Amino acid sequence: MLQLDVLYEEIRACQKCQLAQGRTNAVPGEGPENASIMFIGEGPGFHEDRQGRPFVGLAGQYLEELLGRIGLSRADVYIANVIKCRPPGNRDPEPGEVEACRPFLDRQIELIRPRVVVTLGRFSMARYFPGASISRIHGQPKRAGGVIYFPMFHPAAALHQPKWRSTVEEDFGKLPGLLAKVEEIQEEKPEPPQAEQLSLF
Ligand code: URA
Repeated sequence: MLQLDVLYEEIRACQKCQLAQGRTNAVPGEGPENASIMFIGEGPGFHEDRQGRPFVGLAGQYLEELLGRIGLSRADVYIANVIKCRPPGNRDPEPGEVEACRPFLDRQIELIRPRVVVTLGRFSMARYFPGASISRIHGQPKRAGGVIYFPMFHPAAALHQPKWRSTVEEDFGKLPGLLAKVEEIQEEKPEPPQAEQLSLF
């Protein structure tokens, strides 16, 4: 069995926080093991909980549309979330829930070893850009070791606030350049503490 499948089984059996009680399905994440790019959202919503798959509701349709515009599809990328079970009423994840789920996301990242990590929304941004404000740093890549971290607004934000659509689309349009850039970066061991801001554009 692939290590990733072992991890998915553990996530589906997880009882580490209260969200386990309310879920229909846990949503481990999906995508190719060798994906260069990994998107990290917040957590499952209604449709994700029903299907056990990430980003299959409206925000997911929009994400697919954005991927299509840069010549990619879902099958090319890895999609994960900070928390793997749906919070009641789609409320924000609580700190204890994020902590309980953290080892799962850590292992997912270790196994996929993406070259570009795109954080979608505040909760995944906080993992790599602690204390930052998304309205200030969205669309500004940061390199740590051989990995580029790229904070973006959550696609659902653009669906709720049409004024942010162009911002999200503009930020998304930077991804092909980042993917090209990361190919140029020599294979290095990730060095998270020496993170530096990249000015690529
Ligand atoms: N929003 C998220 O953050 N993740 C999903 O999987 C779906 C919607």
